[in-house]
Amino acid sequence: MSGLNAPFFADDAVATPFWWDAARPNGTNADDIPSTTEVAIIGGGFTGLNAAIVLARAGKQVSVFDADAPGWGASSRNGGFLGPGWAFFDTAMQHGEDVARRVVEESFESLQHVKDVVAREGIDCDLKVVGYFKGAMTPRIYDSLGRNIDRISKVMPCDAYMVPRSEQHKEVGSDLYHGGVAMPGYAGIHPAKYVRGLAEAARRLGARVFGQARVTDLRQADGTFAFKVQGRDVRARQVLIATNGYSGALLPYLKRRIIPVGSGLVATEELPPELMNRLMPKQQMLAGSQRVVTYYRPSPDGKRIILGGRVLDMSGTDRSNVANATYIRSLLLRIFPELAAYKISHYWHGQLGFTFDHLPHVDTIDGVYFAGGYNGTGVARASWLGSRIANRMLGNDDGRTVYGDLAFPSRPFYNGKPWFLPLAVWYYGMLDRWDQR
Ligand SMILES: Cc1cc2nc3c(=O)[nH]c(=O)nc-3n(C[C@H](O)[C@H](O)[C@H](O)COP(=O)(O)OP(=O)(O)OC[C@H]3O[C@@H](n4cnc5c(N)ncnc54)[C@H](O)[C@@H]3O)c2cc1C
Repeated sequence: MSGLNAPFFADDAVATPFWWDAARPNGTNADDIPSTTEVAIIGGGFTGLNAAIVLARAGKQVSVFDADAPGWGASSRNGGFLGPGWAFFDTAMQHGEDVARRVVEESFESLQHVKDVVAREGIDCDLKVVGYFKGAMTPRIYDSLGRNIDRISKVMPCDAYMVPRSEQHKEVGSDLYHGGVAMPGYAGIHPAKYVRGLAEAARRLGARVFGQARVTDLRQADGTFAFKVQGRDVRARQVLIATNGYSGALLPYLKRRIIPVGSGLVATEELPPELMNRLMPKQQMLAGSQRVVTYYRPSPDGKRIILGGRVLDMSGTDRSNVANATYIRSLLLRIFPELAAYKISHYWHGQLGFTFDHLPHVDTIDGVYFAGGYNGTGVARASWLGSRIANRMLGNDDGRTVYGDLAFPSRPFYNGKPWFLPLAVWYYGMLDRWDQR
């Protein structure tokens, strides 16, 4: 019994990521945990494993510890969107044009980094450049997306282009939007296959990757770091924290800076090919312009639609899963009303790591390295910053990144419990509805 009881669920629907059907993260248990290691990486997702690959290639003795199975966190649950971040330009402008330019340049480098790692390590993960279309919810938003492209083009070359409503059906078979912006360089990936391939590559290169290995009690001790893994004492010369949205209480400094935010996704049952061709004529990555984000894509085999949006209740009870899936399905039906006749085969959710300035951060906290805070754009950026911070740990020039130069902000009265999220989602939802009135 899946516990997913609602008429729109398929009989065999499950509350696990669609991606796990092909690549379920599996954990090795912690029996052979070492008592010392040169480098300890806490968290076995894109960040931790990309770092492990760089460090192991450099000959370091590396141990990756994941509290669950390696890849179990956001890295095997995400939408698999992987793109050059034109959208980051505006966010980064809070630090001026130079930082904004570097942020966009690094987003291109991130995408290239993933392509390189996948090719070099021979990872079979359905990585494909397919393009991306963001639909404007109102004519005014369409104009503002156009102005954004103009603004970026004045600073750097930009291949994003506007698609008017009259041409929109070439991008997406929906009447919801008033045109939108197309970004041709965008890619899609099967995230669970990618993270599994990273773990295999790290192991091949000599890194030890442990599952069921929660790290606690991290502290400095006699010029090294000491911590416990499932109650056992371990020492390491260097430590990288790569826990992003699952960081919890490991370091109070991070607790005050990383905001865990929930995102839920549904996958449809397999749809008729002619319907898929009409709804997703380019088989590309898609989203709407709403502040409370909705993103969707075809499954890599082009047979299903996968759609994600914000969810607040991450308890994972049957009741909350059904309520979340009902909400996410309503977003799907708003775009494609004809999908009311089709069932949902999977619902799942995961935790993103947000930051108060909406930018990722690379930091060193009392000698402990950290990379994270990808704000929902970690497929490329976690991979990239995992490899950058590893180079930083090696003392290489390749460790430089714009995200290492920015102050990492917190807010008064924030201590790891995002009490303001329901309020923020309500507020931004209201602004979205106001835009569309
Ligand atoms: C539902 C969802 C959809 C998303 N969609 C996209 C998308 O389409 N495109 C995109 O670019 N980004 C997307 N993201 C964001 C992206 O998935 C993340 O930014 C990225 O996976 C972060 O990787 P990570 O390795 O830093 O963290 P994670 O993959 O979250 O890994 C952190 C790991 O740390 C482990 N851990 C935590 N505490 C401890 C501890 N004390 N000891 C040991 N291990 C510990 C956890 O078990 C976990 O496996 C999405 C995220 C979610 C949740």
